[in-house]
Amino acid sequence: MSSELSKIWLSSPHMGGQEEKFVAKAFKENWIAPLGPNVNGFESDLENYIGNDKHIAVLSSGTAAIHLALVQLGVKQGDEVICQSFTFCGSANPIMYQGATPIFVDSETSTWNICPKALETAIIDRIAKGKTPKAIIPVHLYGMPYLVEEVAAVAKKYDIPIIEDAAESLGSTYKSQNCGTFGDFAALSFNGNKIITTSGGGALVSNSKATKDKAVFYSTQARDNAPHYQHSEVGFNYRMSNISAGIGRGQMLVLDEHVILRREMHVFYETLFEGIDGVEVLSEPNKDFYSNHWLSAITVDPIKTNGIDREQMRLHLETHNIESRPLWKPMHLQPVFAHMPYYGGKVAEELFEKGLCLPSGSNLNDKDRKRIKEAILEVFKN
Ligand SMILES: *Cc1c(COP(=O)(O)O)cnc(C)c1O
Repeated sequence: MSSELSKIWLSSPHMGGQEEKFVAKAFKENWIAPLGPNVNGFESDLENYIGNDKHIAVLSSGTAAIHLALVQLGVKQGDEVICQSFTFCGSANPIMYQGATPIFVDSETSTWNICPKALETAIIDRIAKGKTPKAIIPVHLYGMPYLVEEVAAVAKKYDIPIIEDAAESLGSTYKSQNCGTFGDFAALSFNGNKIITTSGGGALVSNSKATKDKAVFYSTQARDNAPHYQHSEVGFNYRMSNISAGIGRGQMLVLDEHVILRREMHVFYETLFEGIDGVEVLSEPNKDFYSNHWLSAITVDPIKTNGIDREQMRLHLETHNIESRPLWKPMHLQPVFAHMPYYGGKVAEELFEKGLCLPSGSNLNDKDRKRIKEAILEVFKN
């Protein structure tokens, strides 16, 4: 019977209503190309939103943004780049595209993001082995800001640039400053499951107009200034289309509302699990942190729940047609990265073993929440 109910997704696209207006305008004016008024408009919308004098190039994906940050930092074959291990593969794959080696670092327990101590240990050891890392990629995972000041202090001490992976954290802040403005570069993502979407897309945030222009240059096949097609460098086809950017412009109008709604889902889970021993909801460590709670995430400790673990919970929710998903499997445990250096302990590994993401979309309603609550309480009744 429950399978006849419509599926409750982890995080699905949520249109605000104005998107089609921007897309229709693009059709009417025949701007269907990877340039046009929506592309420039979406870039200004984003720049105005995140502030701090940043310059933004919109691209085909968040992964492309991280890739172009590495290209601009001159990362090449044989170089090393430090990356938070507890993340989605989009943070790490671009390091491989450049023929460089990812050096993975463990998380700390307050934000689940890169541990500044393990980070410093990694840097010291890599330098001792002969190579100073070319960049550090920390991640604001699930929207939770990483330990911004501690990570910046380590990066500064060794003079290593930061590429901030803010793919999941548009709308999050640390000490009232927007995520995506702390690094030398930052990557945003507008993939279908993110807090706002362009059906697929991303953006590179940088500190100057020159670096932005360079990103646009690389993202449009690195074409030299000549009447014919001439190329002195290897480029990429990474620019966002004017159609996608139109969707993005519409989504910007509802971004703040989406943040409020996702944060309400987080409060819903905090309340729901208040009386349940052994379940912890990822929450801000203190008032300096403000998460968009892109995904609400919990850890389940079977020792305290009479043996109920996250997999049992996931499978039970599935029988009610409710999607949930284990936390990201750390990169250093992925077969493709198994031979890469790793620094730290078992924080990320334990999070993966115990953790679960629950439905968090801004489009969930009271009926959905009732179904989720009943299904979850059912697991803990038995
Ligand atoms: C989604 C995501 C990316 C990549 O973004 P795409 O737009 O899907 O390429 C990178 N890092 C993290 C942490 C993400 O969640």
